[in-house]
Order: sequence, then C-alpha cells, then structure tokens
Amino acid sequence: MMSTPAVPPHTCLVIAAHPDDIESWCAGSIAVLVKQGWRAVYVLCTSGENGTSDPTEAPAIVSARREAEQREACRFVGAEEPVFLRLPDGGLEDDTLLRGLLVCEIRRHRPDLLITHDPIHPFPPYTTHRDHRIAGRVALDAAYPYARDPLHFPEHLRDDGLQPHAVPEVWLFSSNTPDHYVDISDGLAAKIAARLAHASQTTDPAALAHSWRRRAEVTGQEGGLPLAEAFKRLTLN
Ligand SMILES: [Zn+2]
Repeated sequence: MMSTPAVPPHTCLVIAAHPDDIESWCAGSIAVLVKQGWRAVYVLCTSGENGTSDPTEAPAIVSARREAEQREACRFVGAEEPVFLRLPDGGLEDDTLLRGLLVCEIRRHRPDLLITHDPIHPFPPYTTHRDHRIAGRVALDAAYPYARDPLHFPEHLRDDGLQPHAVPEVWLFSSNTPDHYVDISDGLAAKIAARLAHASQTTDPAALAHSWRRRAEVTGQEGGLPLAEAFKRLTLN
C-alpha cells in the first residue's frame, strides 16, 4: 500500500473499458485512496451499450442507464464525475483516436497514479474481453511515452493549454501476475455498494455481495492481508 501523500490531493486516474469494470476490480482501493485524501477520476472508454441480454433494447437507452449507474457508483467511493469517451462497446481499437483521447485525459488530470486493465497477462488468461486488452494497452502507451513527450498530439498544448505529463506509477488490475496487494478493509463496503449501483448488471445482489467479499478474502490471503485487491505495479520514466 502506498503511504499517505504528504501534500494532498494526489490524483489517481482510472481508465477502463466499460461501466462496472472499475467496481469489479479496483474500487476498494480507490475508496481507500480517497479516504487518504486523493482525487480519483474515472475515464470510461465505452458506455457499455451492448451490455444487455434483451435484444429489443435500444443501445442509446442501455448506454444512458449504464452511465447513470456509473455516476452513482462514483458517489459511493468519492470519485469525481466520470469522463465518458463513448467509443463503441465491443469496438475499441488500438488506434490514434483512442490514444489521443487518453493522452488528453492524462495531460488534463496529471495523475500521480494510473490504474487500468492488465493487457499483457490478463486474468483470466485466454478469455478476457477484447475491449479490456485494448483499453489497457492503449492506456499504457498513452502514459508512456505519448503523454510525456510534447511533440505527440501537440494540439493539446496549442489548443487547450495542456502541458505534457509523465505518469510516475501504474497499477494494472485483472492481472495474472499480481505483485502489489492493497488492504481494502476500509474500502470493501464502498466497493460492494458501488458494484451494486450497476443494477442492470446484477441479478442477485446478495449473492454478488457475498462473492465479492469472498474474493477479497481470497486475494487477501494471497497478499497476507485481511481483505485485498491485487495489481501488477509498474514505475515509469
Ligand atoms: Zn468490461
């Protein structure tokens, strides 16, 4: 666990593919950081408009509902108003569009810590969502070296006054090779409440709450902590 920052607020930027990804993997750690005085800002690459089992639902209705659920989830952990890039659900690409959008958000929010999907050794292996792999890969590329180097996307400075920013540290969630465990004893209740805010993605709230607590216990045992979330930790630059 990182020590409490001496000069708050430090900023944590979380980049994820879909609404509910953050709640599933790292919202307990976010809640703990916020309690320590950090700012937390979420960037959602898509609004999850294909996340329904009802073939008659309009994607615009689904995405509006899922954005509302994501906003409510943010309130449970104290994260700020989320940023929605509204790229196509299931259609993320490792391209200049997504890279530029993520570089822009990094330069705008200037995070001390970036949290995103592990694109290289994801958990579970072999069957991860394609959007997760791409969001994590492009977020890492955006952090290093694109956001750091001023001649990449120079329009950010020219048009919006956004200075380059070097991200010092990254935590990758849903990693098959975790090496950093965060004690979420003080954040699990907020994590579960935030996950349950995604009501459209929840069929049995009691069972879900039980399973997420159990998962935190199992991860905690791996990390020598009572309740934990696990990450692959990188230092950059
Ligand atoms: Zn997802």
